[in-house]
Amino acid sequence: MTTTMTARPASLHVAWPSVIWMGAIHVGALLVFLPAYFSWSGVAICLLLHWLTGGIGICMTYHRLLTHRSFTLWPKWLEYPLTVLGTMASEGGEIGWVADHRRHHAYSDDENDTHTPAQGFFWAHMVWWMLVDDSSKHTAEYYKKWTPDLYKDPVHRWIDRYHIIFPIALMGLLYYLGGMSWLVWGGFFRTIFVLHTTWLVNSASHIWGYRSHPTRDKSTNLWWVALLTYGEGWHNNHHAFQTSARHGLDWWEVDPTYLTIKLLSLVGLAGNIKLPRISRTTGTVLAGSPASVESQEELVDDPTQFVPGGV
Ligand SMILES: [Zn+2]
Ligand SMILES: [Zn+2]
Repeated sequence: MTTTMTARPASLHVAWPSVIWMGAIHVGALLVFLPAYFSWSGVAICLLLHWLTGGIGICMTYHRLLTHRSFTLWPKWLEYPLTVLGTMASEGGEIGWVADHRRHHAYSDDENDTHTPAQGFFWAHMVWWMLVDDSSKHTAEYYKKWTPDLYKDPVHRWIDRYHIIFPIALMGLLYYLGGMSWLVWGGFFRTIFVLHTTWLVNSASHIWGYRSHPTRDKSTNLWWVALLTYGEGWHNNHHAFQTSARHGLDWWEVDPTYLTIKLLSLVGLAGNIKLPRISRTTGTVLAGSPASVESQEELVDDPTQFVPGGV
């Protein structure tokens, strides 16, 4: 791996509550190596909850719905229970997550990026949330700048503020229902499985893989990250068409999150699905060119940048 190192902010300090919580989960996950805690039902609940908290909670709800509004849920209140699923991934409250991610899109791979591998692989992967400076603290000003839409929603404000109770409650429920095996596999190990797979989008999918679109950042499409993240690894496509609900744009770019959104629309629970314009004859993405004749579905995006405060 070769990355060009750039200077980090000068006044970094350790985010102790996050470091202690994440550290405890990582230590707890080591218990999977004890045969006494193994059970096939524990493995099954691990995989089910990886999909529910990571695939549905983070990839579909935190990212494609709340950050980019690439589709609409009907009724709208459905986004609240799905957001709670996202909190159970232990990636923080939804408003802070969305703010950090919108900042990533606004400054992708430059010195103000939330998490760029230009500052090292592990910085982009996980160190960025351990060491914060004044510009990245989750203050009311930070929220108002990057997430004015979510910040004015009292339900989202409440979930964001008390997000930590949901992963703790899930851990308690797992222990109550399945004992230590379910807690270790479905709680601790599943959480680090979700964390590291979704973090690969920020690290690996800005380093390795191919680029289908000449975006101004270094985002890539990386098949094995896409497999682990329900389609989020088609990250260069996503940077090119940020509000598209579909990230896998070529036929081989399997995108389970988009298929889930389509499934929700089939049963009447989702709509206003935003997609880039694709030629019906050649199958190629026309990148929003006004000359495109046939559109598969509504064109909604071009490689423009997120404008702070103007969601
Ligand atoms: Zn990115
Ligand atoms: Zn995004």
